[in-house]
Order: sequence, then C-alpha cells, then structure tokens
Amino acid sequence: IGTKFPTMGTTIFTVMSALAAETNAVNLGQGFPDFHCDPKLLADVTAAMAAGHNQYPPMPGVLPLRQAMATKIEALYGHRYDANSEITVTAGATQAIITAVLAIVRPGDEVIVLEPCYDSYVPNIELAGGVVVRVPLTPGTFRPDFAKIGAAITPKTRAIIVNTPHNPSATVWTAEEMRALEELLAPTEVLVISDEVYEHMVFDGVAHASAARYPGLAARSFIVSSFGKTYHVTGWKVGTVAAPAALTAEFRKVHQFNVFTVNTPMQHALASYMADPAPYLELPAFYQRKRDLFAAGLAKTRFKLLPSAGTYFQCVDITAVSDLGEADFCQWLTREIGVAAIPLSAFYGSGFDQRVVRFCFAKKDETLHHALERLAKL
Ligand code: PMP
Ligand code: GLN
Repeated sequence: IGTKFPTMGTTIFTVMSALAAETNAVNLGQGFPDFHCDPKLLADVTAAMAAGHNQYPPMPGVLPLRQAMATKIEALYGHRYDANSEITVTAGATQAIITAVLAIVRPGDEVIVLEPCYDSYVPNIELAGGVVVRVPLTPGTFRPDFAKIGAAITPKTRAIIVNTPHNPSATVWTAEEMRALEELLAPTEVLVISDEVYEHMVFDGVAHASAARYPGLAARSFIVSSFGKTYHVTGWKVGTVAAPAALTAEFRKVHQFNVFTVNTPMQHALASYMADPAPYLELPAFYQRKRDLFAAGLAKTRFKLLPSAGTYFQCVDITAVSDLGEADFCQWLTREIGVAAIPLSAFYGSGFDQRVVRFCFAKKDETLHHALERLAKL
C-alpha cells in the first residue's frame, strides 16, 4: 500500500508484553502496575457516572480537574498556572507529548532529544516534519552533558524534550542540572517539553526538580503529567499539560482536532480524588520499598545493579550473566527463564547496545518474589 513509515516497527513494549503473555513469563518489561488502584478512586468514577457526567466535557478538560492540578502544582512546585488558560487534560502523556510536538514543530525545525529517550519522542518529531537532533546522556551515568546540549543548539532549534525522573535509566535530574538547563536556554527561544510522568516516584528523600520550579523554564515549557503513573491506572489514559497561556493556545489548536477531549467520568473522579494529597505524597515510600525489595533479590544474582533514583524501573548490567546482546538477552530471559525485561537499546536510534536491560518493579510483592525466584539461577 506504499507505506508512509517504511522503517517504523512496533513499539518494544507491545512486542515484549506479547512475548511475555505467549511464554507465560513474569512481565517486568512494559511499565505498568499489576495491582489494583485505590477502591475510593473506583467509587469516584461510579459516582461521576451516576451523577450524569457522561457527555462531552469541555475541550480542554473539566474545570475541577484543571483547578485541582493548578492547586497541586502550586503547592508542590511554587508556580501558579491558570486553570482556564494554562492547563489542558489529555489522553495520557502520550497524546500530550505528540500534541505539543505537532503544535510547535514546523517542517525543518530541529528538536533535541537526550538519548536514551522514551520511544515515542523521535517518531513524534518525524510525524511533525521536524529534524531529530540526538544528544547522548553521559554514558554510564546517564547525566545530561550541558556542553554537548549547548553545542547542539542552532538557530533552527525549536525545542528540547527532557524527562526526569528518567525512563529508562531511572536517574533523576538535580536542581543544579535544571538550573543549568535554564541558564543554557536563557539567551535562546528554544521551547521545552518536560516529561514529568514519574514526578511522584523519586526516592531517598530527594525532591522532584519540576521545570515549574524554575521561572526561566516554566515560561517556555509544556509540563507533562500522567494520572496513569500516579494513581496506578495506566489504562485510563488521562494526563495533563501545563504551559503558559500562549503555548497552551497553540497546544489546544491541535488538541481540539486530534482528540478534542478526554473521557468525562474519569476526569471528574480524578478531580474529587485529588482533594486528598496523601496518595501521591505516599508514592515515593511505596515504590522505594518495592525498589529495595527487588534490588535486594537481584543483589544475589550476577547482574550488576545501576542506581534507581526514581521511576519504577531498575536497570541492570548483564555482562557477568550472558554474552548475548541486550535485545537477544531479553528474548532469552523471557523464553528460557520466564521473566520479561526491556533492552535499553530500544531507547536509542542507533540501537546502541551497552549490555543493560530494564526491569519494572511496579508489581505486587508476590510477583517480584516470583520473578526473583526465577532470576536466582543467574
Ligand atoms: N513518557 C514516559 C517517559 C513514559 O514512561 C510513559 C509511559 N510509559 C509515557 C510518557 C506515556 O504515558 P501515558 O501512559 O500517560 O500515555
Ligand atoms: N511507558 C511504559 C514503559 O516505559 C510503556 C507505555 C507503553 O506501553 N506505551 O514501559
């Protein structure tokens, strides 16, 4: 049929989840919880439906949810967004990111991504007709290299996509790094898409460095959040974008025609559920305990653990365990050992293989124990 995207394959998350299901492996590949969300949140959905919130909501999302987000962002990060003109409810972070890209990237505009990066960014830029400029994070530590980022900025640079806490490496940007980005961009007109979907999964007492905290960044950023991550409901596909009014106006031009709006009852339910901050304030401790449980088990194997400072991912170096490349190793691990993982090479355009794979620990303790029993032989 004359494919428009001859080199585009199927996302690694779909591939590995299908393989895990087919082989009956414990799926620590694709990032999603295998436990239930809070029953209160489900009751809030039923209540919203019973109250008649079942027709189209306003195009930017229901006002109570936008107000709840504005209140939360101000309380946590000290920046006040206007609920009417600066916050938009999206169909998850995925639609938020592609909509922001389509809204700002003109054909030929350059967009910087920091590799390894989440697998939707590059296709999004290409769909917009933009030019992808790949800047590597520092090999080994995955920290941003501002000399390299600075060298990649040209008069054609339209935007940079940043992501902290970072998928897949599980690193977390420091306040100094966010300030360095702010300083670097100050003399430019480069916009920022700040993917902060793991904002509530930062461990060891560290605070999330949201772009909203830094005035020079907030003024040029689309800040992307996802309720799927925060409330254990990845299948709901509801997120938000916070951005200054002028950027939000551009965002909504695309949003109104690529999704128009997002399902109504979930939005009302999320708005009422957000009245209590406890669920997201408790999330760091909740996931830190799972990280530590999983890491303690992995420490008994020959995998070498990389630090997991945030997200719900744990990366490991496989060198001492296998001679296989990452992608082959993940296939082997799923089929032969019965545990699915994601190769980091899937997050690089070049398929760069550094013998590191990613496990997701957003699982019931029993699931983690089950996986660890299988991994114990390695
Ligand atoms: N960005 C990153 C870094 C992610 O890890 C994910 C989900 N895995 C997304 C965006 C997409 O989030 P959502 O499910 O809300 O579309
Ligand atoms: N973001 C999830 C991950 O990194 C997967 C989301 C998806 O399947 N698209 O595992």
